[in-house]
Amino acid sequence: MRSISILGATGSIGASTLDLIRRERDKWRVCALTAHGNVAELARLAREFSAEVAVIADEACLPELRAALAGSGIAAAGGETALVEAAARPVDITIAAIVGCAGLAPTMAAIEQGGIVALANKEALVSAGEVMTEAVTRHAATLLPVDSEHNAIFQCLAGNDPAHVRSITLTASGGPFRDWPAERLALATPAEAVKHPNWSMGAKISVDSATMMNKGLELIEARYLFPVGLERLRIIVHPQSIVHSMVEYRDGSTLAQLGPSDMRVPIASALAWPERMDTPCERLDLAAIGELTFRQPDEVRFPATRLAREAAQAGGAAPAVLNAANEIAVAAFLAGQIGFTRIAAHAEDMLSCYAPPAPGSLADVIAVDKEARERARSLMESA
Ligand code: NDP
Repeated sequence: MRSISILGATGSIGASTLDLIRRERDKWRVCALTAHGNVAELARLAREFSAEVAVIADEACLPELRAALAGSGIAAAGGETALVEAAARPVDITIAAIVGCAGLAPTMAAIEQGGIVALANKEALVSAGEVMTEAVTRHAATLLPVDSEHNAIFQCLAGNDPAHVRSITLTASGGPFRDWPAERLALATPAEAVKHPNWSMGAKISVDSATMMNKGLELIEARYLFPVGLERLRIIVHPQSIVHSMVEYRDGSTLAQLGPSDMRVPIASALAWPERMDTPCERLDLAAIGELTFRQPDEVRFPATRLAREAAQAGGAAPAVLNAANEIAVAAFLAGQIGFTRIAAHAEDMLSCYAPPAPGSLADVIAVDKEARERARSLMESA
């Protein structure tokens, strides 16, 4: 039996992970399950999977969680400190699937246990790149990428010397607006933005996919996961989302990983690593798909990938500032407060007006993130 904790159990990645665990119930002991405010779902999952502890990050919800778990024998906890403590419980594998930089401290706590951390929470790595990768090395932890592109690259690199890599290409679906003219983008609504053509995901990453900021964050994520040099990282639009990414080697061979657009595939790859496990996912039928197409990203309509590359080049705190500004802008867009094209424009404004020193510790990254959020909010209010 292997032990597992799922940070962000009530989200889209959490649900896909638990779907796989449910099918192999006798092989897993569920330690901690966490959520932010969705008490009913957290309590339901904790009972179904006989979790040892359920943690609700919003401490005001703790009495409700306690009531929902009464008589179950499952420990209930609430608040950010409890979240970090739960993440620090030693387990064989932690699924880091909280959305946003809110997942950073618990993910770091899991890394400090030195086990396997399957990372979906890209914003944490984007904000804390050097600090997190250094912690992985120091604590002899294993960071397995769950993001489908990075999981694909991880698989394509297996057994190969990274010194032989000529380039790594991240594929992007292009999101729901990939064929929209520039003038229509300004009028895009939150409902249209979260309707992804290929993937079913949480609201924030769906908007990131629509702006292409998701691919920008992934470029920065790839830079830390696969240190082959920023200049070797490319992005290509591939509307069918079948090829999840590619690695080109110096001899001219390009290895790609293909699969259905179902996050259970990369999650299963991380859960079973270095073995393989069955999934219920639809099998790939290339003849039915017919054709796979590729095109260059359009950085005029979708400037987010350019911004991310610039932030990665600048290094230091710039990726954390970009991420914080984006999180604030996406939340404002989803709340109907700003237009779609303001999201990237806001991130660009923030990058040009706030350049704090490079963070050297987790506390530094959290401080940069906090300050960047405050500045991003006031910049938005004054615009
Ligand atoms: P969801 O919005 O569906 O779920 C987010 C999870 O995080 C929920 O459990 C939520 O709890 C919890 N959460 C939200 N805010 C906080 C907070 N402040 N403190 C603690 N917990 C919090 O997101 P996704 O599952 O779509 O995405 C999760 C991560 O995985 C993101 O970083 C995303 O970029 C990445 N990812 C997602 C993919 C996907 O297909 N969905 C693909 C690749 C990467 P509650 O339900 O109570 O709000």
